[in-house]
Amino acid sequence: MSDGAPPILRFDNLTLGYNRHPAVHHLRGDIAAGSLLAVVGPNGAGKSTLLKGIVGELRPMQGRLELIGIKRENIAYLTQQSTIDGSFPIVIHDFVAMGLWAQYGAFRGFDRAARQRIEEAIAAVGLSGLENRPIGQLSGGQLQRARFARVILQDSPLVLLDEPYGAIDATTVRDLAGLVRRWNREGRTVISVLHDFAHVREAYPETLLLAREVVARGATAEVLSEANLQRARRSAEAQGETPDTAICHADAGDASGHRHQ
Ligand code: ADP
Ligand code: MG
Repeated sequence: MSDGAPPILRFDNLTLGYNRHPAVHHLRGDIAAGSLLAVVGPNGAGKSTLLKGIVGELRPMQGRLELIGIKRENIAYLTQQSTIDGSFPIVIHDFVAMGLWAQYGAFRGFDRAARQRIEEAIAAVGLSGLENRPIGQLSGGQLQRARFARVILQDSPLVLLDEPYGAIDATTVRDLAGLVRRWNREGRTVISVLHDFAHVREAYPETLLLAREVVARGATAEVLSEANLQRARRSAEAQGETPDTAICHADAGDASGHRHQ
């Protein structure tokens, strides 16, 4: 996936899984630095597993995954949204400031430059004025804004987003998608697990279609062809995943004009 840029990630026959059961098989190839890559596929396709492998939460069962020019601990990783984040007794300011821990340490005070960066990150996601609001009181969209502010502070060359727009309002999606665009313009590599194909087509030049293995990878328009999507669906069905809740919901913008089931 490159236009000559050096790779930031290299997969070499990579297989990842749990308790010796493979979840995603035999990935190969490079991801070029500066890529803006969507990862799509049915439920259970191994999308989240792949991100966990990249951050080192899972060790390869087979093969290798190489990070090039970046350390694991410097990857910014937004996990699939959970209710856990919202249950911490912490205010927005401190929640966002955690994005600086890798750079400042958890227990050192923040200097003036750091305090300014925190303020700017909160402003960039539109949460200025809410700094002292406990995160447990936020809407889903506001919490996701706070999580994005934390990613801003991590200032990472590699940003992984796992279903960043699930269950949040359209305005928030638009604002956060704008941040993703900005990160990519700044030269960062962004890999996002997404379900909304209309959004993928519009905002992501490259796509990786997974169904426990790579079904297709490359230019988004080609990867999201009807034939590839059918292959992915069939593969999910063969593996016993429920296809209707799977790959293609919310695909109102499908170029072929009909909805996938
Ligand atoms: P996706 O994100 O594409 O929906 P996942 O990567 O979460 O899929 O899951 C891929 C497969 O791995 C699924 O079959 C899922 O049940 C399994 N799996 C995911 N997480 C775990 C886990 N913590 N322990 C065991 N199996 C898991
Ligand atoms: Mg997932």
